[in-house]
Amino acid sequence: MNRTLRGADDLSAAGLLSGTDARALRDVLARYAVAVTADMAELIDPDDPEDPIARQFVPRVEECTVAPQERADPIGDGAHAPVPGIVHRYPDRVLLKPLHICPVYCRFCFRREMVGPDGLGTLTDSELEGAVAYIARDPRIWEVVLTGGDPFALSARRLGLIAERLSAIDHVRVMRIHTRVPVVKPDLVGDALVQGLKSFGRAVFVALHANHPREFTPAARAACARLVDAGIPMVSQSVLLRGVNDDAATLEALMRTFVENRIKPYYLHHGDLAPGTGHLRTGLAEGQDLMRALRGRLSGLAQPTYVLDIPGGYGKVPVGPHYLRESEDGTQVTDPNGCEHAYPPKA
Ligand SMILES: *Cc1c(COP(=O)(O)O)cnc(C)c1O
Ligand code: SF4
Repeated sequence: MNRTLRGADDLSAAGLLSGTDARALRDVLARYAVAVTADMAELIDPDDPEDPIARQFVPRVEECTVAPQERADPIGDGAHAPVPGIVHRYPDRVLLKPLHICPVYCRFCFRREMVGPDGLGTLTDSELEGAVAYIARDPRIWEVVLTGGDPFALSARRLGLIAERLSAIDHVRVMRIHTRVPVVKPDLVGDALVQGLKSFGRAVFVALHANHPREFTPAARAACARLVDAGIPMVSQSVLLRGVNDDAATLEALMRTFVENRIKPYYLHHGDLAPGTGHLRTGLAEGQDLMRALRGRLSGLAQPTYVLDIPGGYGKVPVGPHYLRESEDGTQVTDPNGCEHAYPPKA
């Protein structure tokens, strides 16, 4: 069994749909892509209806429930897309989206209306040239962030070609790849892919998306080690998800696992307002409480920044918690145990 599960029949045969209303699920499947790699399916306990790996990948009828504030393009990519495949929101960096295919389809994905076999598709050669030309024309662009879809789902040859085309642009000093492949399909991280990345010839960072410590199988750890050993630094990104990692112990274990695998925790994303994802989203105050707990119990090396992508395309910002408060007596600073202290201290 090394095949990716797709569609209701596959999921049923794997015992992952017990107790699910098949009719209601049909609407979900008609709307959103489904894929669970063998590596992830093996981690799921079919007897646990709330399994944290299943919650991320197995479709649920709750996805039919779309709240009024949820939107197809929750972070406003569309408003900043000058040419196909490019999102340019911040002056010094762009997103380059060469494809909209992923090895898994996460139920909470903020691009769930754009990814999948019926999504925005893969850039043609001429669209890719157009995107590269856009980057070449704007000397402010210092970093290119490859995302999608999952760029590691491209062939090593195509990825190498993109790296080479970018290396010809002098002002592009950094290439960053956002991917879930090293955990969900670690076998794809082979020598050819690593060499393709290295053909950029400058700084390459890989940002790994993982949400639960159990995702770090021995094969996943080995895939991350292949990248880091090749001189490619890694950072993490995770999404705060109800029933997956919304407790301090799980988040702590996740962040420690990243660091133990030489991956610097970078972002913990607040759940975006993607359609039909309310059952997976927490409140901002809960996220702040969790971050406060992490500050008290976890090495500084393992602290992520908790960020919100402001709906409408206004950008990502840290959303606390905040440790400073202005009072009548001057500035108050909260310590890791929750006690306030005047700053500067009273003489
Ligand atoms: C998230 C994002 C980036 C990268 O942001 P960093 O804060 O540098 O990680 C760049 N462009 C767009 C449009 C984004 O949404
Ligand atoms: S791998 Fe990334 S882009 Fe693909 S479905 Fe998951 S969150 Fe979305």
